[in-house]
Amino acid sequence: MESSNNIQWEKIDCPVCGSTHFDPLFEKKGEPFVRCQNCGLMLINPRPVYDHVINTYDDDYSDFYIKKANKKMARFKRWAKSVQKLGARKGRWLDIGCSAGFVVKVAQGLGYDAYGVDVESHGIEFAQSTLGLKNVSQGMLEDKNYPAGFFDVISIYDVIEHVPDLNKFVAEISRILVKGGILDIRTPDEGHWRTPKDRATWNAIIPSEHLYYFNRKTLAMLLNKHGLKVVKQGFNFKPTLKTYAAHM
Ligand SMILES: [Zn+2]
Repeated sequence: MESSNNIQWEKIDCPVCGSTHFDPLFEKKGEPFVRCQNCGLMLINPRPVYDHVINTYDDDYSDFYIKKANKKMARFKRWAKSVQKLGARKGRWLDIGCSAGFVVKVAQGLGYDAYGVDVESHGIEFAQSTLGLKNVSQGMLEDKNYPAGFFDVISIYDVIEHVPDLNKFVAEISRILVKGGILDIRTPDEGHWRTPKDRATWNAIIPSEHLYYFNRKTLAMLLNKHGLKVVKQGFNFKPTLKTYAAHM
């Protein structure tokens, strides 16, 4: 974390509906959690601005993360098969926030030409050197300049809640996802029945890192703005929103 001395703060309009009216909910580590009066999105606002992306990943890919690799791969394989059941075409798959590249590896194993991008470099190095993945790279999605309609499937697992410029991000996803392509998003579910009523005690609340807390409605609204229509919202026993959208 930065020292608190010279942090810049920015106040944003609701990224889902554009409203400028918010109800205060609680504070955590000095950051105000609020709810949009119009659409109900929960977010941090105003929020601290960092000149770099906060490292939210485990740096030590050689140890802890890798020990769980097989379990992760098995889980990602189930997730990828759910995407295929929705009629996703074989072709190119992009995993945004790919970390050590496990989703990319799984998609490749299922016959996709699989790509990955991550703002953080440690996982990318592992993905390239140990998993032998070629189409993985470090950086911001918006800087990759993938061709329009390039991907048949895009997955974003535990990433969208971190993204500072949400509309720019989703607009870019919409641009590079082919018409009829499938988007698979997972993010904490603020509307889930197991989310603690006292939101301040929810373990998904992470100041400076988890900037937004969607429910089914607010995530669908955001996607709709960018031509992405929700086709399925899956059941999950944990407070995680499983949303599949198609590019219309
Ligand atoms: Zn709103």
